[in-house]
Amino acid sequence: MRLTHWIDGKARETANGRSQPVFDPASTRPFAEVAQGDATDVDAAVEAARAAFPTWSALPNSARARWLEKLADALESRLEAFAQAESRDGGKPIKLAREVEIPRAISNLRFFAHAATQFASESHHGEAGLNYTLRPPLGVVATISPWNLPLYLLTWKIAPALAAGNTVVAKPSEITPVTATMLAQLAAGIGFPPGVLNIVHGLGPEVGEPLVLHPAVKAVSFTGSTPVGRRIAGLAAPLLKKVSLELGGKNPTLVFADSDWRDHLDTLVRSAFQNSGQICLCGSRMLVERRIQVEFREALVERATALRIGDPIDEDTQLGPLVSQAHFDKVITAIARARDEGGRVLCGGTVVDRPGWFVAPTVIEGLGPDCASNREEIFGPVVTLQPFDDDDEALALANAGDYGLAASVWTRDLNRAHRLARDLRAGMVWINTWLQRDLRTPFGGTGTSGLGREGGAEAMRFFTDAKNVGLRLD
Ligand code: NAD
Repeated sequence: MRLTHWIDGKARETANGRSQPVFDPASTRPFAEVAQGDATDVDAAVEAARAAFPTWSALPNSARARWLEKLADALESRLEAFAQAESRDGGKPIKLAREVEIPRAISNLRFFAHAATQFASESHHGEAGLNYTLRPPLGVVATISPWNLPLYLLTWKIAPALAAGNTVVAKPSEITPVTATMLAQLAAGIGFPPGVLNIVHGLGPEVGEPLVLHPAVKAVSFTGSTPVGRRIAGLAAPLLKKVSLELGGKNPTLVFADSDWRDHLDTLVRSAFQNSGQICLCGSRMLVERRIQVEFREALVERATALRIGDPIDEDTQLGPLVSQAHFDKVITAIARARDEGGRVLCGGTVVDRPGWFVAPTVIEGLGPDCASNREEIFGPVVTLQPFDDDDEALALANAGDYGLAASVWTRDLNRAHRLARDLRAGMVWINTWLQRDLRTPFGGTGTSGLGREGGAEAMRFFTDAKNVGLRLD
């Protein structure tokens, strides 16, 4: 399989003729080649997007909404093919791709199609006269997305951007480029206006940076690691470009003795190990009230060990491989470092004896809040367990470190739950649940987890400019 750029509604080979292999993480063998573009391809894509902008932005909101709905319909009709592709490309269990991620990508397109028609201008009629605020689109915008939820995060960005009337140049991760290419192909197949959605493949420094720096690109929506987010912020700052940064996390899970934690074990285990821990929202620091530490530890280890590791394409598989050799090496190094720091590995900590970049679900105890294992994102099937004695200690442990993406609190005490929700340093807090998403709500992190919010009206605001008009009424 050969994956090319999609520019101006057509498949386009890279100008420099270079490509790189795409690997199946479950076998470590390459199964496709993807174009490895550079600034020349970025220029061509931005030019196509610029040319498409006047017509696309002039369409009534309802017409753009219909295009997004049509794309959603087309994606829905090909759901299984996209799920299979996502599973193979990223090592994701097929059930997760089929039942959660591709359906969510479809929901993104449908949700923002409606947002296009509902995100009306605001108006204020007061003593001074009439004020109204227009929300024109920005022009050409760039999206840069990671490998862990490839189609889901791509659609999460392009849907509001397109709905608001912008045209897009998207750079998917070079590690999981398949479904972005398939989506562009699908869009072309239903006659999506050319140039409105362009895909350029390649490496961050070679495609991502020229995209951020391109003078015609008015805003950059980025999801990925904190170091790359910093780099993009640094490049965009002198140009005074709008950026949205959704970055890493080291999310705490606070489990209190009064919670129904046994009934919630399925969700708690999912919150730690879903997609082999390769979700920015996974809870990687489990904080457990000391009174239940022993029972909780036993139950967690038992469940983690029982997770069915296997070929992602197998219906029964619950835990697939890590996405790449480089990421596998990083996770294995992090586990070795946890041991060096004095951590006791209660389960896992090992490579799985089968082909592919598999790491067994790993639970580590005995590490304090200041060690690297509890401060740095590992982004694998690795969680630490730390005991606490009271709410204050739980909060201090949870708020230790620089990240501030998400947290979950497990308790029956409503007062405690809401007090902690108020005091936790995180962009999202779940109470007795995990990863409950409503697309209308703000999504994003604080601290080194990011800048700005996406989702609902936040995304529509990001992809538009506010222009206030004041009018005297005599
Ligand atoms: P990454 O930062 O390495 O890469 C993300 C994207 O940025 C890729 O497309 C990559 O090619 C591109 N890129 C790399 N260097 C670049 C540069 N110098 N300029 C411009 N673009 C560049 O991240 P990753 O390894 O693909 O993804 C994992 C990370 O993403 C984790 O840290 C995870 O927490 C984070 N993430 C965050 C969220 C969120 O919503 N907060 C969601 C998913 C993943």
